[in-house]
Amino acid sequence: MSAGFAGEARPRGPLTAGERVLLVDRKDRRYLVRLVVAGSFQSHAGVVEHDEIIGARDGCEVVARRRDGGTGPARRFLVLRPTLADLVVKMPRGAQVIYPKDLGAILMAADIHPGVRVLEAGVGSGALSMTLLSAGADVLGYEVRPDFAARARANVTDLLGGAAAYRVEERDVYEGIEVRELDRVLLDLPEPWRVVGHAQDALTPGGILLAYLPTINQTAELRERLARCRFAFAETFEILRRTWHVEGRSVRPDHRMVAHTGFLTTARRVSSRWDEESAG
Ligand code: SAH
Repeated sequence: MSAGFAGEARPRGPLTAGERVLLVDRKDRRYLVRLVVAGSFQSHAGVVEHDEIIGARDGCEVVARRRDGGTGPARRFLVLRPTLADLVVKMPRGAQVIYPKDLGAILMAADIHPGVRVLEAGVGSGALSMTLLSAGADVLGYEVRPDFAARARANVTDLLGGAAAYRVEERDVYEGIEVRELDRVLLDLPEPWRVVGHAQDALTPGGILLAYLPTINQTAELRERLARCRFAFAETFEILRRTWHVEGRSVRPDHRMVAHTGFLTTARRVSSRWDEESAG
């Protein structure tokens, strides 16, 4: 790791043993590989020696050596440090993860910043946790399944090392929230309305609750509960991300897109039932 800026949590400078890189072939197939001294990566294209990558720079090219010593065109790979978005899509997971397009929006909608105290439930594979921690949040996770809790901890440690401000407790958040003075409560589980009362008690005034839900029926149920509690400015939205095909004179939207992932709902903890009073 190079001498760098304060707060540097991820590697930079030349690629080192122990870190993960993406090997990308000409057909844009991507392989996530952890570099090991004297290790090798085997693929359809042949063998790439890790030692050729260790010490090289991010963005370099390597050539795969054919196993049978055969000739034919050399198979080249581009070597890149994975971004957080690459890792979220590629990392080992048990539960469904929140996708990068939604993760980015969550950071802004929940106003995540360094030192903000977040309760996250459930943590699943830790994709949201990794995103929150990368933005500097202090995260306490509640997760009912011990296997997911362990997976999330491992994924976070892989990204940020063991010193991350991250703790996961094996708990059912429907039964209650033990801590107080939280700045944010972020929910990705099937019945977040069962957490609204607990969040009301646990959130500091002005704090934000955010829930991610796959269906609008669930969202409506959450909104009803929020309207009956001390939350104001409830808002529901979704993120539609449409990529474009840009090649020569053919410049148009791609034919396919991920049309639906989930709905995001936010609301702020206030001292009284604002929405009801303003309705008269
Ligand atoms: N946001 C996560 C994925 C969460 S998947 C990510 O980005 O990776 C939903 C998780 O909620 C699952 O791991 C499930 O075990 C957990 N869960 C469901 N009900 C829960 C509850 N009552 N308390 C805590 N965790 C719960």
